[in-house]
Amino acid sequence: MGSRDDDLRYGGITLLASAEGGRYPCGNSLLVAGTEATALVDPSIEVGRRGRAVGPVDLAFVSHGHEDHVAGLHVFPEVPAHAHPADAPAVRETEALLAGFGMDDAAADVFREELRTDFGITGHADVREVTDGDVIDLGGRTLTVVHLPGHTAGHCGLLVEPDGFLFIGDIDLTGFGPYYGDVSSDLDALEASFDRLRGIEARWYGTAHQKGVVEGREAFLAALDTYAGVVARRDETLLGLLAERPRTVAEVVEHRLVYRPHVQLPFVPTVERRTAEQHLARLERAGVVRAEGGTWAIS
Ligand SMILES: [Zn+2]
Repeated sequence: MGSRDDDLRYGGITLLASAEGGRYPCGNSLLVAGTEATALVDPSIEVGRRGRAVGPVDLAFVSHGHEDHVAGLHVFPEVPAHAHPADAPAVRETEALLAGFGMDDAAADVFREELRTDFGITGHADVREVTDGDVIDLGGRTLTVVHLPGHTAGHCGLLVEPDGFLFIGDIDLTGFGPYYGDVSSDLDALEASFDRLRGIEARWYGTAHQKGVVEGREAFLAALDTYAGVVARRDETLLGLLAERPRTVAEVVEHRLVYRPHVQLPFVPTVERRTAEQHLARLERAGVVRAEGGTWAIS
């Protein structure tokens, strides 16, 4: 096996340790070994670094089509990768991945280059589509697909049994809070996914980033509440801005609801815009804000 001494083990699951502790642009990749086959889950930059030493790998599973979750897939071009139909195109093709962010052309040009140089993304020929409830049998160990949309439309978790390890991908329980800034993102769907997760009993809840693995349902539920609470905090930030005076969406984007002021990534403006628009739409439906002219104001 290609695991190292500093990798973390949970039953039959190995989490590949990274120098970044899973922090973006890195991520947590899992190796899940059955008696018949070994699955590689969310091949990250760390997999790119280790190369074939990670192997042998028989199949891959990708929770969703974001760059940090497919960065190591090029190490195993011959292996079938599994993803939800809504995100499978982004796993197959760099251009589909890029299109998911809905950036303008100039930002897309910058990010296209980063996908190639920083992430090593090449696209993947053999991508097979899996949906909620599908089971991948590794021999004495199974992976059950749990569709958890919202972050992206095809975002999926994976329940590994008999270990009771639930991989929840980018519902990553970090202080950053939930991300729903893609073209296919949907905040209401994401909150429904949180509710679904609250009902799933597992021993371990594994995230794709620096929060790592949370043990026990009680600790998981507390972490999920804190994480989900960031959505309400963004509402408060937004309402605070509108309380000062009516604002255009561009002004809200400029102030930022999601990223800190110093963060300069090509997708920040579009992510901020889509996030602001979803919050405004929800607050409008709730009768809390209203559009007037080109601005938004407290009702
Ligand atoms: Zn993601």
